[in-house]
This record gives sequence, C-alpha cells and structure tokens, in this order.
Amino acid sequence: MVYIDAHCHLGSRQFDKDRNEMIARMLEKNVTKAIIICCSEHDLEHGIRLRNENPGFKLAMGIHPQDLEEDNKPERMIRFREIAEKIKPDMIGEIGLDYYSHRHTKEYQKAFFISQLKLAAELDLPVDIHSRRAAGDTYEILKQYPARGIIHSYSGSAEMAALYIRLGYAISFGASVLFPNAKRPAEVIASVPLDQLLTETDAPYQSPVKNHRHEPADVLDIYKAISGIRQMEPEALEAAVERNFDRMFSH
Ligand SMILES: [Zn+2]
Repeated sequence: MVYIDAHCHLGSRQFDKDRNEMIARMLEKNVTKAIIICCSEHDLEHGIRLRNENPGFKLAMGIHPQDLEEDNKPERMIRFREIAEKIKPDMIGEIGLDYYSHRHTKEYQKAFFISQLKLAAELDLPVDIHSRRAAGDTYEILKQYPARGIIHSYSGSAEMAALYIRLGYAISFGASVLFPNAKRPAEVIASVPLDQLLTETDAPYQSPVKNHRHEPADVLDIYKAISGIRQMEPEALEAAVERNFDRMFSH
C-alpha cells in the first residue's frame, strides 16, 4: 500500500539536521508519494533534489500569503515566473489568503494570489490553496480565476467544502481530524466525495502531539481517523487517495 502526504515542507530548516533520517522513516512506512511545498529559496533547493531522488515526490512552489510583509512589489511575481519556468514545478503552492495572522497585508495577498492562479492556469499546473479566516474571498477569487487543485488542511464547514468541491477542488485533511471531540471535521470528512479527498501532515507544522515535530510518516494516523469516520476499509481509502493524487498530476 502507498500512503500520500499531499502537503509537507520537506525542505524546511526544521529538517536540516536529520532530513535523510526523516525521509527514511517516511519511506519505511510506505509514504512514497508526497507534495513538497516550497515557499523559500532554501526549501526549494532541497525540494528540487528530493524530487530528483524520489519518483513519487512532486514539487510545489509558491509565494505564501504570510510572506508579503517586506517584498510585495509586482517585480517579485516576475522573478517567481522566471524561476518557475526554469525549474518546472509540478504545482503552484501554497498560495492563498491568511486573514487570521496577516490581515494587514490583505490587499497584497489578493493580488499575489490572483497572479499565481493566472500563472498556474497558463502553465497548466494544479494549485495548492492556503485559506485561513478568508473563505469568502478565497471562494470568490477561485470562482473568478479558474484553476484545479487542492484546498489544503481543510477545517471549515461542510457547506463551504461543497462549494470548493463544485469548483472541482480536492479537499485535503490534516491533523485537525485527530483532535478529540472533533465533531465538525467528522461531518465534513463524511461529506466529501471519495474521489476528491486527500491526506496531508503539513509537516513539520500542525503536529497533534505536543513537543513533537510533525513528519510525513505520521500521515498514517490521519488515514486511520478518516477511515474510522467514514466507516470504510483502510485499503479502499488508501487506494482512493492514491488515485486522487495520481490524477492531479496526470494532466
Ligand atoms: Zn504548509
């Protein structure tokens, strides 16, 4: 069986000391397909190497909505496009809107989100969407600028998920499904069509365990929670998630 981590920051500085060991732990658990999210030069350098070494690893690059405080001039988008044309990522992301932590850069976030959606459409690449406390604007922009891809680490309502699903997006679930008494996630997880569902860790972030650095190997816990909530055979969930992952990149 193959497990998917549809969103992990394998190039993160938090893995600089033991990246190879972390990758070995991941492969040992059969987490052999993953999307490496790169939002900095440092992460991208590692991401390119890891993609070359692992046929199941896909490379995503994006300008993160939390990263627009200093360099938010339009020229940044020109440089981004040049790099994308050179390294040929498999996906654009993560991109989107974060009004939870960065409300003050709202206008820049919208502008860079739209520019990156347009670039993804032009390059015929899927996108990976970060949306926090910004569902209304995220949805309006995605409706206006059609692309295909993933809503990452989804924790919103079933109604909102249904709107993204109608636009063709896959909904990816992370550690929020593991929290005890997670009533709303259960309702949302049960409502997503099986062919639009993905799994992720967001490693090294979003660990459900205190003082533990999240790793792709931990994605098995997320599978377990989802198959429990949906009352389905683990093998059927594993096969479906792998199909959804492969379809995303078979364009
Ligand atoms: Zn992330």
